[in-house]
Amino acid sequence: MTHPRILVLGTGGTIAGAGASATAAAYQPGGLALETMLANLAALGLAADLAGQEVARIGSQDIGWPEWQALHAACTGALADPAITGVIITHGTDTAEETGFLLDLTLPAGKPIVLVGAMRPADAVGADGMRNFANAVRVVSDPAAAGRGVLLVMGDAVLAARDARKAATSSIDAFKSFPRGAIARVTPAGLDWFGPAHRVGESARFNWPQSLPRVAILTAGAGMDEQPVKALLGIGCKGVVLAGMGQGNAPACVLGALANAAASGVPVVRSTRVDEGIVDRNVEVDDDALGLVAARALGPAKARMLLMVLIANGITDAAQVQAAFDGEKV
Ligand code: GLU
Repeated sequence: MTHPRILVLGTGGTIAGAGASATAAAYQPGGLALETMLANLAALGLAADLAGQEVARIGSQDIGWPEWQALHAACTGALADPAITGVIITHGTDTAEETGFLLDLTLPAGKPIVLVGAMRPADAVGADGMRNFANAVRVVSDPAAAGRGVLLVMGDAVLAARDARKAATSSIDAFKSFPRGAIARVTPAGLDWFGPAHRVGESARFNWPQSLPRVAILTAGAGMDEQPVKALLGIGCKGVVLAGMGQGNAPACVLGALANAAASGVPVVRSTRVDEGIVDRNVEVDDDALGLVAARALGPAKARMLLMVLIANGITDAAQVQAAFDGEKV
């Protein structure tokens, strides 16, 4: 029987992290070459052929346009190559939700594309990277993984990239998933999907842009004034995401300044600084009157990603931006 052929795109992060000792806290994310990682993985005897391509060797706090472009191009090539079953992207966990969601928005839901990371460096005692990677191989190798959008495999769970977010700084169970929980449980020995694929045959929601515009996240704080909004407009932000209190609230003066920004053609999305929950339209804030958009289930990091993609695709009208945040194809 021929094994699935998987393209592995390396970007760095803790899964490729190397420390001074197995018990030290300090380490360098991306210290390990992808080639070395793949050689270590070969020892696990996984039933898959892994073809590596190193895109970067960085901590994912430094990821940006050049790496995203390279990842998107490599995934597009893999989707078109009949010899390739799917793609695994090794990624730092800090921004895995951003890269995963960006690719989810801009790639068709064909073959499985799976991000995988680790919370402990490769040479630390109790390292989780190898297990997460073996789990990712199991997911990509399963034909039932197709048609679900981009996925994230961490902590024996499979999360949809559009739901996943990092919610703990150091525990190996660092990711949460909202509004859906995990969509499958995975171990190196087994994989259980909790429901059928619901995006089979779906094309990309948005075109891959030429560049991404400057969009800032403004976190609301009690007693703040509107000056930070003015500063963001002053540096040429093309869109603003409010990480508001509760259901996306902010002091009246801040909302007033954001309404002015919206009226001047800079789309403004209200999300929440709260860990979890939906931000709906017109609850305490009169979005209709102020020209603002409610982020619904997307937290600030993913709301920023979607707003950047929308603006890059020429979609800035508040009603259309709202439709996209409501999950519609615009
Ligand atoms: N800050 C680094 C990164 O996101 C290491 C964290 C991690 O991978 O867990 O790449």
